[in-house]
Amino acid sequence: MDYSERFRVKPGNNINLDDIDADFKPADLDSEEAAHQLERSTEKIRDLQHLMYAEDRRSLLVVLQGRDAAGKDGTIRRVFGPMNPQGCRVTSFKVPSKMEAAHDFLWRCHFAAPKRGMVGIFNRSHYEDVLVVRVHDLVPKKIWSKRYDHINDFERLLVDSGTVILKFYLHIDREEQLERFKKRIDNPKKNWKISDADYSERPYWDEYTRAFEEAISKCNTGDAPWFVIPANRKWFRNLAIADIVADTMESLKMRFPEPAVDMGEIRRMYHEADEAG
Ligand code: AMP
Ligand code: MG
Repeated sequence: MDYSERFRVKPGNNINLDDIDADFKPADLDSEEAAHQLERSTEKIRDLQHLMYAEDRRSLLVVLQGRDAAGKDGTIRRVFGPMNPQGCRVTSFKVPSKMEAAHDFLWRCHFAAPKRGMVGIFNRSHYEDVLVVRVHDLVPKKIWSKRYDHINDFERLLVDSGTVILKFYLHIDREEQLERFKKRIDNPKKNWKISDADYSERPYWDEYTRAFEEAISKCNTGDAPWFVIPANRKWFRNLAIADIVADTMESLKMRFPEPAVDMGEIRRMYHEADEAG
């Protein structure tokens, strides 16, 4: 199945998240087969990342958004874990610091955008400024409502500067979220992840849904597409994202740069003489 085609939000469409099945998986796919496919795709990503780093012309920005416990951290570990850390940078966006809050909302995101040759992963992103900020009235509507245009302009600037952008919304449903919170309570190694906010945000579920829908619909340009990934099954979420990333990187037709030196001459000067001697 072509996951890019299947999960890409069609530009111009107003998305309705309640219509999308968070449990989806292809009928003939099970977790064991998916694990094999994931391994192939993450190997491909690793090789293509090597090429991107060597080529040093373009960059890739992956934006991960989703509700609490939607699987942003798990995706980073499982899909991007095999990459060479030298060629990638993960930035996790939290409540803005004093310094960040004293700037425009895109300042910290622009600063974290991947430079040429790099893969940048945003764990949350500039979209928080039209999500949590909107749901909790952290700034007035007349401010946040202009941000969709600012975001589109910002993303176009990155694309025009050689960055490929992929944006993923990890789609889980209400029951799955509660179950994941419960697992965090039951597993001592996950206790640290629980925050009061996780529970106090649940009553705002529908407000977040509307905010996500509007952000995804308004900022879904041809150059910076959104994908809504069914994410109740972690193994399927990982596979779908890995495949989309691998296919996108492959489509760039990247090439190793021409060597900066005359290989024949170097070989003659430093190797053949050595071997003869
Ligand atoms: P976590 O991803 O679980 O570490 O939580 C990070 C928290 O920071 C979440 O509750 C986000 O909603 C919050 N956050 C991220 N960006 C912003 C922002 N621009 N304004 C307010 N809160 C934010
Ligand atoms: Mg959290």
